[in-house]
Amino acid sequence: MTTMKAAVVPELGGKLEIRELAVPEPGPGQVLVKMEASGLCHTDIHAAYGDWPVKPSPPFIPGHEGIGIVTAVGPGETLHKVGDRVAIAWLGSACGHCEHCVAGWETLCLAQQNSGYSIDGAYAEFALADDRYVVDVPEEISSLEAAPLTCAGLTTFKAIKVAGLQPGEIAAIFGIGGLGHLALQYARVLGARVIAVDVEDAKLDLARELGADYTVNARTTDPVEAIAGYGGADVAVVTAASPRTFEQAYASLRRGGRLACVGLPADDKMTISIFDTVLNGKSIIGSIVGTRNDLADVFALHAAGRTRVIAEPRQLEDVNACFEEVLAGHVPARLVFTF
Ligand code: NAD
Ligand code: ZN
Ligand code: ZN
Repeated sequence: MTTMKAAVVPELGGKLEIRELAVPEPGPGQVLVKMEASGLCHTDIHAAYGDWPVKPSPPFIPGHEGIGIVTAVGPGETLHKVGDRVAIAWLGSACGHCEHCVAGWETLCLAQQNSGYSIDGAYAEFALADDRYVVDVPEEISSLEAAPLTCAGLTTFKAIKVAGLQPGEIAAIFGIGGLGHLALQYARVLGARVIAVDVEDAKLDLARELGADYTVNARTTDPVEAIAGYGGADVAVVTAASPRTFEQAYASLRRGGRLACVGLPADDKMTISIFDTVLNGKSIIGSIVGTRNDLADVFALHAAGRTRVIAEPRQLEDVNACFEEVLAGHVPARLVFTF
């Protein structure tokens, strides 16, 4: 039996364990991917803690920013072949024929499986994936950079699209972590001015380096007042996992503004004024990851030099320490396990 190293959540809220497991064999329609890089998304922490109303079933392997090489394919015809480099994203598979899938909204499919949540993910030397739902990685992009693009990039690219951000508008990005550092770049690509909001000065320094026009430290300055001083936000994208931040982002919108909800705090409720919503014509939009096509667009933009990924390589053995560092807000954008 060939074995692999994997980080496993043994029980919700417990520490992850590094285990030696059998390398799985691909069944029909599946590929076996030998991982080169696997990003640590804050969602993996929520998953391991059981933070959300729909919980994963332990033991499971987290990880949905997996980049690696196909080393085996299941029986029958496959789209991918041994040697292809692919991305394993949150959308592990979908049914392909429901109204959402057919309409190009596969991310809303009720029959979807989610990598690292409902099925084992990419915190391992090998992972199984659905041949139809892995996405090809262009050769110009390193695996270290492709990993954060696979969720952080994809998710914020889509959120900014569904919020209908227009050239010349003001976008406020709340939370400049893995997701936020890419969100601000997509807003710039679309020709918006960008206000970056975080509670850590180091994240705001990074935001300026990546082209943010203004930065606000929400720990020391009221972001609602500060953003009002810049004219208010047309679009606010919230990636910080705290309900208070959603309320601040909403309050920082100008008339006709759109709140794109992306972060998924364990504490699940926010309070919004109906009067403010109606009279000021504000919209609240939920946005969940993106489709395979969106990910191909994200990769193409990066390959064309329009985005920068800030990622730091780490070892899978250090997964628990890495979770702590992310929770403390002390990491530069994205940590990525490399193999
Ligand atoms: P991250 O930890 O890398 O980034 C979060 C950032 O928020 C950090 O920079 C942190 O300093 C900042 N922050 C914390 N409190 C703040 C506050 N009060 N005001 C402003 N900034 C604050 O996390 P991430 O990987 O970018 O993920 C962010 C959230 O997005 C998580 O809840 C994750 O589950 C969620 N997520 C959602 C989707 C989706 O499809 N909607 C996809 C991926 C991740
Ligand atoms: Zn479907
Ligand atoms: Zn993610």
